[in-house]
Amino acid sequence: MTLIHRGEPGFDEAVIGRVFNARRPARRPAAVLLASTEQEVVEGVRLAGERGWKIAVRAGGHSWAAWSVRDEGLLIDLGGLKDIAYDPETGIVGAGPAVKGGDELNPYLAGHGRFFNGGHCPSVGIGGFLLQGGMGWNARGWSWAAENIAAIDVVTADGELVRASEQENADLFWAARGSGPGFFGVVTRFHLRTLPLPRALTETVHVYPAELYDEVMTWLYETHTEVSRDVEIVAVSQSSPEHGRVLVVSALAFVDDHEAAAEALAPFLTCPVLDRALVRADAVPTTLAGQLDRQREANPEGHRYLVDNAWVEGPAEAAVPAMKKSFMDLPTDKAFTIFFSMGPTRQLPDMALSLQTDVYLATYVVYEDEADDERLRGWLTDAMADLQPVTAGQYLGDSDFTTRRLRFLGDAQWRRLQDIRALRDPEGRFAGYLAEPGELNVNHWLR
Ligand SMILES: Cc1cc2nc3c(=O)[nH]c(=O)nc-3n(C[C@H](O)[C@H](O)[C@H](O)COP(=O)(O)OP(=O)(O)OC[C@H]3O[C@@H](n4cnc5c(N)ncnc54)[C@H](O)[C@@H]3O)c2cc1C
Repeated sequence: MTLIHRGEPGFDEAVIGRVFNARRPARRPAAVLLASTEQEVVEGVRLAGERGWKIAVRAGGHSWAAWSVRDEGLLIDLGGLKDIAYDPETGIVGAGPAVKGGDELNPYLAGHGRFFNGGHCPSVGIGGFLLQGGMGWNARGWSWAAENIAAIDVVTADGELVRASEQENADLFWAARGSGPGFFGVVTRFHLRTLPLPRALTETVHVYPAELYDEVMTWLYETHTEVSRDVEIVAVSQSSPEHGRVLVVSALAFVDDHEAAAEALAPFLTCPVLDRALVRADAVPTTLAGQLDRQREANPEGHRYLVDNAWVEGPAEAAVPAMKKSFMDLPTDKAFTIFFSMGPTRQLPDMALSLQTDVYLATYVVYEDEADDERLRGWLTDAMADLQPVTAGQYLGDSDFTTRRLRFLGDAQWRRLQDIRALRDPEGRFAGYLAEPGELNVNHWLR
């Protein structure tokens, strides 16, 4: 077991070396445990108990807010827990929390003709992604990724390794699907239900000039819920060398043949200003590898990121103008905003994750110079303030509670989560949500 205390060689690298966001926090724990086996995690949790340390956990290091980096206490870095094993009898794959969904899990599963709806960026770790719900490939049609967790292996606050599922330790299983960084245990392995690999991934992409924002977004907002559930629907505002800021509407069909793809993608030909699109590709075959490369390009490594998001609700007349600053007034060339359709929303199974609307909006301010931190933070605050009248809450995956915290679970689910925590982690051994003091799970304008 490798335990590095503050002040020892390699400490800083162990604390922040695997944090994706180059905007690193100044917080520092008392020690870092580099775990590579379940037994080492058990020993780490027990050691924290003996020394009176709080515990923070890291899997893939992709939390935008670097939730794993806390002041004092023990950081348990699960970077060594990366084994993957598929069982063809059950269709279930067992995977360590540091496995990267796109770079590692799906290439492995493709060899078995299977697929898992992991995160869009290939290097995101499955640990943090699944605990907060997981808005993976085609989440609107195939469900939140966490709905495909069959069971988890967890080291509890008192240092016991247990299995949790619908049948055993059901309270832990309920909490693990949606509590994200507020979870009070260390998941050492996920047992995931896989899907057949779609045979004919097909996309339609239409690029519109910025001045068509109102027409395109109003049409999209009013029609996306009618589209087949086999289609992932995204509108993203990007900067292009030839056209400046543009609005890209893309629809990705997860189907098995070209005819089904053409039918599923047909609604995208009904945009009233389609004839004014700058670029048009209709029902073109694509590959998951190609899609992942695009994601890698949009989320470059070694950059600073400021990120925020909103579950959007209300009629198009209110929502489309409220989203306009986020989409069309972005402060850096690499910054982008996505409209990610989750509509029509389904009744979710009983789990902690419980807040969603038809439209998810997230803004990613991507830049390189630390001197821009404050100015860009101010811009993001203003853009999110515009959205407030149509905001139902936030998704944990793109949130940073140290700067803005909204409602992220239903009220009953939030209360139940705290009750389970009080039973499972009575001493508050796990660090919990990284937030300024104050009430959580409330939209601040309703306080
Ligand atoms: C480039 C990029 C693209 C992204 N794309 C998507 C996307 O498409 N969809 C989406 O939903 N999200 C996306 N995200 C958000 C991402 O899913 C979350 O930030 C997630 O927390 C990352 O998981 P991680 O394990 O890599 O991060 P970490 O920072 O390692 O984990 C975050 C927190 O989760 C908890 N945690 C993680 N693993 C465990 C464990 N095994 N046991 C107990 N607690 C644990 C800890 O509190 C930890 O601090 C993206 C993030 C980035 C940087």
